[in-house]
Amino acid sequence: MLHHPNWALLATSFAAFLLSACASVSNAPIVSAKTSLPEACDSLVPAATGGPLTPSDSDVAVFRWLGNANYEIAYKGRIYLLDTYFDRKARSRPLGFEAKDVKRADLILVGHAHFDHISDVGIVSQQTGAPVVGSALTIAAAQKLGMPPAQGVTMVDGQQIQRAGLTVDAALARHSTIQPGLIEAYANVYKVEVRADTELEAAVTRAVMDKGSNAPAIIDQGTMAWGLTLDNGFKVVVFSSAGTITEGDRRLARLYQNADVAIVAYQPHAVASRQVEETFPLIELFQPKLFLPAHHDASFGVWLDLGLEPLFEKLRTELPNTAFLAPLYRSPICVATRGDQRGQVIHYRN
Ligand SMILES: [Zn+2]
Repeated sequence: MLHHPNWALLATSFAAFLLSACASVSNAPIVSAKTSLPEACDSLVPAATGGPLTPSDSDVAVFRWLGNANYEIAYKGRIYLLDTYFDRKARSRPLGFEAKDVKRADLILVGHAHFDHISDVGIVSQQTGAPVVGSALTIAAAQKLGMPPAQGVTMVDGQQIQRAGLTVDAALARHSTIQPGLIEAYANVYKVEVRADTELEAAVTRAVMDKGSNAPAIIDQGTMAWGLTLDNGFKVVVFSSAGTITEGDRRLARLYQNADVAIVAYQPHAVASRQVEETFPLIELFQPKLFLPAHHDASFGVWLDLGLEPLFEKLRTELPNTAFLAPLYRSPICVATRGDQRGQVIHYRN
């Protein structure tokens, strides 16, 4: 006679084993469970304009691209803004909000003083009361645009400060430069493709472009790259322009090697191989877990929207440990800041 095992008992013990296995897993810092995602991960409203903040007990940081090199990083109830160019040139794609709506921020970091990075720093600094961090040239330009002088925080190459729960490392970077003829070539493309600006549109664009500095020194003395470290050691590097690598960049790369996130400008050349040539070396220098592009959208009448695929394909081949994502304006990019998934996008909605 065959002795059949007691299947009911076996099933019970197997279930108990599964339960204990699950219990041990649930102790691990898993943040991918839908229930643990902050509300901000399903909202298209930037925290700076009144959207949900991330709770102080959440390890999720929410990144949002807000056009050009503007990003918002929301983490543990705080809001960090990179650049302040929101009321853009006429005929720009709508961002979905205006500078007058940006009322909350704990810290503002401006990469350099060209209008497409700094134009709204006056109104945004006044409305938020947040300190504005930048190079000496940036802070001088910000004051001219109405930033209350007491809110200016000037940083120099190699300096480190602590503000609003963040460690900020500054590196003197180099602004990108373009070959003669490129601006004229692009202007001709616009001329061939679309109607000319109306008088009103031209006036709006001129007014926006006037809210910035064109000092030649911005190229090699006024452009800062940022290293940002959260309270738990999570690291972000930010380049508002992609120029040739400087000594400051190399020093920053030693501090921020394998940064969790790198936000690097991808602009403005017309041919993909040139675009990749400018930006890829900076990503390669830091070998980040996640690359988020910036500055790749059109500046109406001058630059065109750039395709990201040539850069992404090179990353896939040559930096297989660097993930990437093509963000839409305001879409929440939710990144784990600790545990096994640190540096990974755990949720993204378009
Ligand atoms: Zn610039």
